[in-house]
Amino acid sequence: MRFVKGGSVLGNRFGEFRELAIFSWEYPVSGFYWENNLNPLKSLEYGTEREIHENEYVPKPLLIENPEVMTMNRYLPLDEESALFLKFSDIDISEEGILKFANKYGRLWANHGYLIDIEQVEFIPKIEVKSKEEQYKLWFPEVEERGNSFIIGEPFIYWKTEIISMRNAVRLWKWIENEDIGKLSFVVNWDRDGGGFDCALGEINDIKLFRKLPREEQRIMGFEYNIQYRFFNENVSKEVLDLTKKGDIILPAKILLNDIINTKLKNHPLHLRLLLDENNYPKQFVVPESLLGAMWYQFFQSITGEKKYKKCAVCGTWENVNEKREDWLYHDSCGSTFRSRKKRGLMSIIAGKKPVEEVAENCGVSVSVVKQWIENKK
Ligand SMILES: [Zn+2]
Repeated sequence: MRFVKGGSVLGNRFGEFRELAIFSWEYPVSGFYWENNLNPLKSLEYGTEREIHENEYVPKPLLIENPEVMTMNRYLPLDEESALFLKFSDIDISEEGILKFANKYGRLWANHGYLIDIEQVEFIPKIEVKSKEEQYKLWFPEVEERGNSFIIGEPFIYWKTEIISMRNAVRLWKWIENEDIGKLSFVVNWDRDGGGFDCALGEINDIKLFRKLPREEQRIMGFEYNIQYRFFNENVSKEVLDLTKKGDIILPAKILLNDIINTKLKNHPLHLRLLLDENNYPKQFVVPESLLGAMWYQFFQSITGEKKYKKCAVCGTWENVNEKREDWLYHDSCGSTFRSRKKRGLMSIIAGKKPVEEVAENCGVSVSVVKQWIENKK
């Protein structure tokens, strides 16, 4: 159980000093659930507590730990999960989808959400206890000594907003990497006089619809069209405009992506720590404040090229390909599936039963790769 103050630490695996330097996160063994009925007593905004006044709107449901078993599992997101930000961006945005991710990787923040009084939470006792107090002590042995009496609930809508932000940014990044001018020209829109440009982020079909609106309406209608809207003109970002010239598409898109990542890293800060390695040489560690911060940091590393990811053409899992060949396509374990898809695909092309495009799609490769296969076969 993650309490407001304190919280359990990494144990003695690395000693007390290492705990400060290595980023670890936890998730409850018994999982989370969506709480719809309880009324939190306080709101918690990045560590700052505030009483909730009467009639104040609280967005529900709230994600809270299942109090049935209070054991937490701890893991090292930055070491053990190389592409967590991509998994996060792929979450199915539903109560089940988010729950599945949270049960595996934990909550998004350490200190953001709503505070629920422990006494409000209904326990499901596994063993017989005499009094309520005794029951609390069993589930929350640290409560008494620390004086903690709240647990944190994270609203569904907070999760949804963060997933969409990440998804939009990942999408933008891919379009930039592929130099997809077709899509990016809907994202970036210059003023006729060249005095500035605006950017619209979202699903491509939503953006296309949004761009049909009159210009003045676009400035206020983003929310209605599921669009994240950003505006760059001389008043807000002169430096940006000095870098670009009217009509540029790729450069404004890159500037936008940097801007998104920088804002996120500012809101979810990282800390630098120093530690000695096995040979007693000083080594730098980066410690995010939250899982969300860790995922934006991973994204940052991918963009700067420190970490490269590809989706396996067969199973679709994201893989860190830094140590792999330039043309890596699939896991070793997915190889036989890939080879049989390739073989069947080539046969159906030669027999005139399927177009090259369909086979490329089936095999998870580009059309030019399939054309190369046909070439090699001749
Ligand atoms: Zn695979």
